[in-house]
Amino acid sequence: MNLLTKDLLINFLIILFPLFLLQMSYLVKYVYRLDALKGSFLTIFPILSLVLCMLFPVVIEEDFVWDLRWIPFLLGGLYGGYRLGIILIVITLFIRYITGGENGFYVSCISFPIMGVSLFFISKYYLKMSVSKKILIGISLIFIVHTLTQFISTQIFELTIGISLWKQYFTIQVIGIVVVILLWEVILTNFQVLEKLVKAEKLQIVSHLAASISHEVRNPLTVTRGYIQMLSEDVSSHTKVQYANIALNELDRATDVINDYLTFAAVSPENKERLRVSEEIQHVVNRIKPLANDNGTGLKLSLFEEEAYFIMGEKKKFQQCLFNILKNGLESMQDDGEIYIHLIPDATNIQIMIQDQGIGMTQEQIYRLGEPYFTTKNKGTGLGLMVSYSVIKSMDGTIHVSSVQGKGTCFSINLPIHRYEPI
Ligand code: ADP
Ligand code: MG
Repeated sequence: MNLLTKDLLINFLIILFPLFLLQMSYLVKYVYRLDALKGSFLTIFPILSLVLCMLFPVVIEEDFVWDLRWIPFLLGGLYGGYRLGIILIVITLFIRYITGGENGFYVSCISFPIMGVSLFFISKYYLKMSVSKKILIGISLIFIVHTLTQFISTQIFELTIGISLWKQYFTIQVIGIVVVILLWEVILTNFQVLEKLVKAEKLQIVSHLAASISHEVRNPLTVTRGYIQMLSEDVSSHTKVQYANIALNELDRATDVINDYLTFAAVSPENKERLRVSEEIQHVVNRIKPLANDNGTGLKLSLFEEEAYFIMGEKKKFQQCLFNILKNGLESMQDDGEIYIHLIPDATNIQIMIQDQGIGMTQEQIYRLGEPYFTTKNKGTGLGLMVSYSVIKSMDGTIHVSSVQGKGTCFSINLPIHRYEPI
């Protein structure tokens, strides 16, 4: 292979390199939701390409160097508008000036501004064109650039370069601009699709939310309203107490749903703090005790700690997570039974085991735990464990469930110990 072609191919790789960076930065922006990374960061890539191309050129004569700088220049002008075009012209002329070669510098001084002005007019229409038209425009521009530079160098500055070299140069530039336009378009389209997907996902959550609120919150409210209305009727005081209890239960259900949604949607900013595990469990147990008493269920705690164990998390969310698991345990037991809560620490993790003597689950049910709206209860919401799972995940923990039908279920929550200190 001709030595010059080899050098031009290296130049070609230099042009592709910033495109991969572009792809990568888009991914980083998407994965880490870096909204601060504005569209203007795209302008860095043509500039980077141009500078690299010019710093590693193909030297044909002492006075005359070749490189593929036209490709990033045209691309920047077409996609980035006239401001980027002007920046690119200034950078090109500056680098061309300091790298030496008077005649070549003058060729650039004439050809770049001419092309800059043409790009200014074309770029207005360019972005709205189809990909095939864009490629056609790209090839035509390369052709014009090529003819222009060839004309200026041979006619005005009388530089004589073999015709076969001009052909090689032209071919590589055409291939380059086609590949680069295609890649640029593919990358842009890819990420537009991704952005649409994220938006669609958000809309879906909102519509689910609206549907659930109308079901799970409106129903209990309607029932409550009905019973309160009936309270004003002439009924015995015993019946009144019954009605009031039903109304209160329904209100509690509505509150549960709202709590779960708020915990899951995390309206408040993340606010992690050091939590003492046994203290949090005790708090939740106190909260759930009235429910357990109604149910005839006992709660057995073995929170014996040689030391105080701490974890990092959000207090309210962690409590809600434990509450949901304990409440499921209560609900799984029709007859009297016990719920055991154990703390099992090891060197790095602490395990909270919550064991009930309820109806248990099938393997398939265990598999579906944490899925939104998965419930086997008549009045269930299927949101409780979704919340618990997401809270534990946000605390870098895991949940393991084992269950025997008719015997009971054990939820083991594993959380990293933050740092434990002697009491
Ligand atoms: P909900 O309690 O509203 O049904 P959850 O997300 O809290 O929603 O629980 C989902 C399902 O998981 C429950 O409907 C139940 O079938 C099952 N489940 C959860 N915990 C237990 C448990 N301790 N024993 C038996 N089944 C359970
Ligand atoms: Mg539940």
